[in-house]
Amino acid sequence: MSSNQHYSFFQSVEKSFDKAAKFTKWDLGLLEQIKACNSVYQMRFPVKLDNGNIEVIEAYRVQHSQHKSPCKGGIRFSDEVNQDEVMALASLMTYKCAIVNVPFGGGKGGIKINPRNYSTYELEKITRRYTAELVKKNFIGPGIDVPAPDYGTGPREMAWIVDTYASLKPGEIDAAGCVTGKPVTQGGVRGRTEATGLGVFFGIREVCNMPDVMQKLGLKVGLQGKTVVVQGLGNVGYHSAKFFREGGAKVVALAEFEGAIYCEEGLNEDEVFQHRKKTGSILNFPGAKNLAKNTDALELACDILIPAALENVINGDNAPNVKAKIIGEAANGPCTPEADEIFSKNGILCVPDMYLNAGGVTVSYFEWLKNLSHVRYGRMEKRFTENLNTHILGQIEELTGKRVDDIERKFIMHGPDEQDLVHSGLEETMIAATREIMDIWKENPSIPDMRTAAYVSAINKVATSYVELGIFP
Ligand code: GLU
Repeated sequence: MSSNQHYSFFQSVEKSFDKAAKFTKWDLGLLEQIKACNSVYQMRFPVKLDNGNIEVIEAYRVQHSQHKSPCKGGIRFSDEVNQDEVMALASLMTYKCAIVNVPFGGGKGGIKINPRNYSTYELEKITRRYTAELVKKNFIGPGIDVPAPDYGTGPREMAWIVDTYASLKPGEIDAAGCVTGKPVTQGGVRGRTEATGLGVFFGIREVCNMPDVMQKLGLKVGLQGKTVVVQGLGNVGYHSAKFFREGGAKVVALAEFEGAIYCEEGLNEDEVFQHRKKTGSILNFPGAKNLAKNTDALELACDILIPAALENVINGDNAPNVKAKIIGEAANGPCTPEADEIFSKNGILCVPDMYLNAGGVTVSYFEWLKNLSHVRYGRMEKRFTENLNTHILGQIEELTGKRVDDIERKFIMHGPDEQDLVHSGLEETMIAATREIMDIWKENPSIPDMRTAAYVSAINKVATSYVELGIFP
């Protein structure tokens, strides 16, 4: 926590909420209800380690809001987990889902462990026991609360969760929908792994395609040639870097715990990833310069800075040194409210987490729908569309007497498979959300920043659904 930050992560979410609430018309009591975390489950359970010792594990699941069911949000494994953090992250999930029109309430879970210090077998025991504790208290289920991956967890942990849940609930036909981010063989959806990074890319690309926004920042319209710095080479950072590079931007620096590297010509995230796997460090990558501290990457001159690791990394202390024109919050809560104030003063556009990183939960929603419908996306229409496209193309060729080349032919005839549909559903969601937030900001120019505009959008949607539920007539 930075020296001049006097409030916790949850308080900083409340602070951003209050800043935005002033631009809405809702009753104070209703706003208080939206802000509050409805249910907080703190648990302790024992695990027998491989060396025979018994350790007490501290874990949480928080359901921030049930204005829509189920609750939704990841589970993180980290040494830093505490109740305040899980509460903050659960609240962000409520606002995030509202902004991208995913009909869920917010939730989040956390287990206070550093997964690197445990064997695979120990991690499996911890994950299964955590799931059993959630089942006991009715804190998990396709219509109750649906976890997903977050920092320190992935498809493997989700597979353990669904297996534990299904074995404790024999015959529950929708059991696969109790968790998302599963491996495809266990009911997962194609496109979930890269979803958050792809959503970050779609969101920033849309912002960069807005001429008025780019003009204010003194940047050219479009992503082409823009320089990007990514902090964190986990799932979200890796995929963000990949899509930016493929989309024509230049990833000039990458940072991880052990340090950061810089290369003016641009880095290939996969080559760096393989180098780190081989040598155990991101540093000394051929052709790149080492930076002394990993936090130095946050202060590099660039067009777009993507913090994709943990909260509070840009705060009142280092925000004045940030030279990026655009910050894309791929992590949850990487910038504190103090940093926001400094960005506004310095003319830096901070594109906020609770909409920009919503790609993960959006595709989780698609996965949950797949699980409830028990059919893979594209299964019913892929072949039909291909046959129809072939027929239309044949007719055009016959009428014109010309033939389309083979590459075009393949493209035109192609019927959508699951990944195509998931990616296009995500693209539509991110573009629509970006425009919605920017419209709110334009309609009310006294809104100080994009985060506040995003909160206004979230508050209005959650409040409306409370009112429609008849809870606050
Ligand atoms: N953990 C991710 C997030 O913070 C994904 C949550 C989900 O898919 O439910 O948004």
